[in-house]
Amino acid sequence: MSPVLYLIVPCYNEEAVLPVTAPVFLEKLMGMIQREKIAPESRILFVDDGSRDETWSIISALARQDAHVLGISQSRNRGHQNALVAGLMEARERCDITITMDCDGQDDPEVMEAMVEKYLAGNDVVYGVRSDRDTDTAFKRSTARWYYRLLRWLGAEVVYDHADYRLLSRPVLDALADYHEVNLFLRGLIPLVGFRSDAVPYSRKARAAGETHYPLGKMVALALDGVTSLSVKPLRLIMGFGAVVALVSFIGVIWALIRAFSGHTVAGWASTTCIVCFVSGVQLISLGILGEYIGKIYLETKGRPRYIISRRTWEE
Ligand code: UDP
Ligand code: MG
Repeated sequence: MSPVLYLIVPCYNEEAVLPVTAPVFLEKLMGMIQREKIAPESRILFVDDGSRDETWSIISALARQDAHVLGISQSRNRGHQNALVAGLMEARERCDITITMDCDGQDDPEVMEAMVEKYLAGNDVVYGVRSDRDTDTAFKRSTARWYYRLLRWLGAEVVYDHADYRLLSRPVLDALADYHEVNLFLRGLIPLVGFRSDAVPYSRKARAAGETHYPLGKMVALALDGVTSLSVKPLRLIMGFGAVVALVSFIGVIWALIRAFSGHTVAGWASTTCIVCFVSGVQLISLGILGEYIGKIYLETKGRPRYIISRRTWEE
């Protein structure tokens, strides 16, 4: 029997691009249903992430026109990762597989079919992996490469050049529901959940219309979240670094005592200043790293909901 697919598409202020891409997604879905790759109960589930423009009215109109389109709306903007989880958890009980995909047409919808094939071949997770980064700026290309390396080095399992275009099966969604963390970094979390996985290559296109919602600040925040929610190695690095500084200081103390006892007590302004600056810098960075983790603990202990769904197209 062909699986029921829910295509989860997060949208934030996407009035410019939705009218262009939604028909493409729908056509693809209908094609797959016709070819009996997926069940007729398959749906596209748009998740409006608290948009302030016409996104929600576009989604409701699409849902009225075609029963294969559904939409939910978050009560406010909570970010891409939370929108994804909202959609995944909403779809969990109704489908066999989900595919998460950006709404701007950057993730090639043609690849969905290959993902479903891999699922039918026995995989529970299928990662969409970029075959090239031609549409990225040189800056994004090199920072992304270094970032993946850093994550790997810190011990986080991440799939190289994979963002959030992926297929998940029902068992994976059920397992994911048991992860209650509010600091979400799905591309690091999914490998932790496990299950048999495979990847399909795709070429990431340029945005069909509109603008990115990931300016540098948000990207850095996501990158930091990725590190601190996947690895505690930075804390250990502080300790290692602290030990090295302590050792150097100890040698420095002995050197200073020897100099003092042998009568060479010269006014060492430069060396004192250097030491003070260096040690206080190290301490501040260490405190910052500690603070980052404590902040995460604080947010986790509150256990606030990760998403609040305020509207559903099928309830209106
Ligand atoms: N998005 C979202 N909430 C946000 C920011 C973005 O749901 O707060 C959605 C957005 O509508 C798009 C996807 O996440 O479908 C990826 O965002 P975008 O295309 O702006 O990022 P980029 O592809 O440039 O990294
Ligand atoms: Mg995009």
